Amino acid sequence: MKTYLKFWGTRGSIPVSGKEYIRFGGNSSCLEIRDGKTLVIIDAGTGLRAFKNPLNKIDLFISHSHIDHIGGFPFFLPLFDPHANITIWDGPGESNAEALFTKKDAQIIFPGLVAIHAKVTFNELKPKTTFSCGTIKVSAHQACHPGLTFGFKIETRKTTFAYITDNEVFKGHTGSKTPKEIPPFEKSLISFLKGCDFIIHEAQYTPAEYKKRIGWGHSSVSNAAFLLKEAGVKKWYVTHHDPDHTDKDLLKKQKTHQKLLPGCKVIMAYDGLVVKL
Ligand SMILES: [Zn+2]
Ligand SMILES: [Zn+2]
Repeated sequence: MKTYLKFWGTRGSIPVSGKEYIRFGGNSSCLEIRDGKTLVIIDAGTGLRAFKNPLNKIDLFISHSHIDHIGGFPFFLPLFDPHANITIWDGPGESNAEALFTKKDAQIIFPGLVAIHAKVTFNELKPKTTFSCGTIKVSAHQACHPGLTFGFKIETRKTTFAYITDNEVFKGHTGSKTPKEIPPFEKSLISFLKGCDFIIHEAQYTPAEYKKRIGWGHSSVSNAAFLLKEAGVKKWYVTHHDPDHTDKDLLKKQKTHQKLLPGCKVIMAYDGLVVKL
């Protein structure tokens, strides 16, 4: 029985390539979770293109429909397999992935969609709700990001963890200490995250970069660290790396993260990283 997760894409905002990105990779958001015969994928960024699937039943969760979370969808090979049965979980709304993937206009930017042979079903995601997919349970919590965006808590038979790629926590806070009062959104998120074995969460900007990007929907390293400290996290996989951050920058950032959270093991996720669950 295989039980693991695999990062297929760890870059945020836009895919990157070049010699300065070799160690961490350049594909945008995509995570595979396998629990025996159950397969869940979260986000359809460009990392999804390389995904090879031995199972016919796939549950694909879309955190939101920004391009770095859906750009790999037209290249998702199981779509063209008549034996594949794909359930797509997505938020409601006119600009959600269902609308983008199925509208006739979509074929202008995604020509391959006319050749879909898989059975594809769409289901609506709701915040603070748990969805069962075989032996994996997925719960959704709204994130702080432009447009309706979800973060997820995933329970396999042995492990519970969270995956939140686009989330501006403690919005506007630029201090180097934890804010005196925890706002209601962060309080709700902290209780959602409590009890996780580990957390996959972004920290896209350095504190200096964040000062110029307040409201863009992403956290500073320090604000993300404040959140995870309050949630009592013991292991943090950092993902959704900024496209401007080279391998060298990310290695430097890892040290900053680790200093901020001495009681937590900080790992910078990279494309292809597999974690046994
Ligand atoms: Zn993103
Ligand atoms: Zn986004």
